[in-house]
Amino acid sequence: MANVNRTPGKTRRAEVAGGGFAGLTAAIALRQNGWDVRLHEKSSELRAFGAGIYLWHNGLRVLEGLGALDEVLQGSHTPPTYETWMHNKSVSKETFNGLPWRIMTRSHLHDALVNRARALGVDIRVDSEAVAADPQGRVTLQSGEVLEADLIVGADGVGSKVRDSIGFKRDRWVSKDGLIRLIVPRMKKQLGHGEWDNTIDMWNFWPRVQRVLYSPCNENELYLGLMAPAADARGSSVPIDLEVWVEMFPFLEPCLIEAAKLKTARYDKYETTKLDSWTRGKVALVGDAAHAMCPALAQGAGCAMVNAFSLSQDLEEGSSVEDALVAWETRIRPITDRCQALSGDYAANRSLSKGNMFTPAALEAARYDPLRRVYSWPQ
Ligand SMILES: Cc1cc2nc3c(=O)[nH]c(=O)nc-3n(C[C@H](O)[C@H](O)[C@H](O)COP(=O)(O)OP(=O)(O)OC[C@H]3O[C@@H](n4cnc5c(N)ncnc54)[C@H](O)[C@@H]3O)c2cc1C
Repeated sequence: MANVNRTPGKTRRAEVAGGGFAGLTAAIALRQNGWDVRLHEKSSELRAFGAGIYLWHNGLRVLEGLGALDEVLQGSHTPPTYETWMHNKSVSKETFNGLPWRIMTRSHLHDALVNRARALGVDIRVDSEAVAADPQGRVTLQSGEVLEADLIVGADGVGSKVRDSIGFKRDRWVSKDGLIRLIVPRMKKQLGHGEWDNTIDMWNFWPRVQRVLYSPCNENELYLGLMAPAADARGSSVPIDLEVWVEMFPFLEPCLIEAAKLKTARYDKYETTKLDSWTRGKVALVGDAAHAMCPALAQGAGCAMVNAFSLSQDLEEGSSVEDALVAWETRIRPITDRCQALSGDYAANRSLSKGNMFTPAALEAARYDPLRRVYSWPQ
């Protein structure tokens, strides 16, 4: 394979802005391929926000490629089924024909990636905010420092300064629904009789639109996603309004009481960002900076990790960094675009409430295997 972007004896350098799942994946994958990598995180510590997360076959394969899968599998959970309820009655139980999937706390996933990045010698700087970048391969920090590199990765999230400083054309919109995300103790015994190891996607349309995505992360931790329209003042209020949630989901009362104690809870609307391009010269955008999507299909981080990992693959094959980035976007972006569109459509129509909605199209991104570069789960 052609690899003329390397000058013999010179180690290629990447500056990565953002220490979320996308930035850490890019940093580890590049480092594994011999790059010198510096990762800039604007916060004073590396930490994940947002309670729990679903990862599917595609994201799990990335973790395997990064050497972080074993750590993630310990302390995470694959439910026997993804069950959907409407008005507290089961309407479907999906098992995805054995397609691997997993639920975990965000901190668990983040810690595993940070540990791997540190073990490989990624130079991690906290309190280091990127404020601008240019296509020639320079990134400017809040401190005024300007760093030059062969590659700049903008993984600085939905409000990306790297992206906005360069001027990509973008569409951005927010959904009508949003989610309060919380981690509470499992308390299986207090919930009484039931299949409490399942994911249970509990929908109610009457008397109000309210949904609980009940997601066990491990033996001790439960991820609750409480969905309500932004227009519903009580459903979207934080700390949660215990009365409106217990009224609709009385059997979850022990967990909801714990949830109501969490004063730092946040209600987030779903944002979607679509760009004309993910690259300019030596700058590549990955993750929410490039393609924030509605979480209906739970693929924002999964796609981000696949794309960040795939970037490192294409950089080994391109004739120059600039050409490799163009080839990368051409190769990998269509999967994310289709997933983003369908996820947005599902969120707008609340389609998951019907049950049995993990169709082959809905699972396309999940079935992709970034290590072998094929859909390796053909069902
Ligand atoms: C309600 C909800 C549920 C979701 N559920 C799932 C799910 O189950 N499965 C899934 O795959 N995806 C899910 N997602 C999507 C997923 O959370 C995101 O796609 C993913 O976290 C994006 O990662 P990221 O690294 O691109 O961005 P972020 O997680 O936003 O990380 C960006 C990082 O960069 C830092 N930063 C920001 N600006 C700068 C700067 N200028 N310089 C340096 N550092 C900076 C931030 O502090 C942060 O650490 C969900 C999203 C939502 C809203």
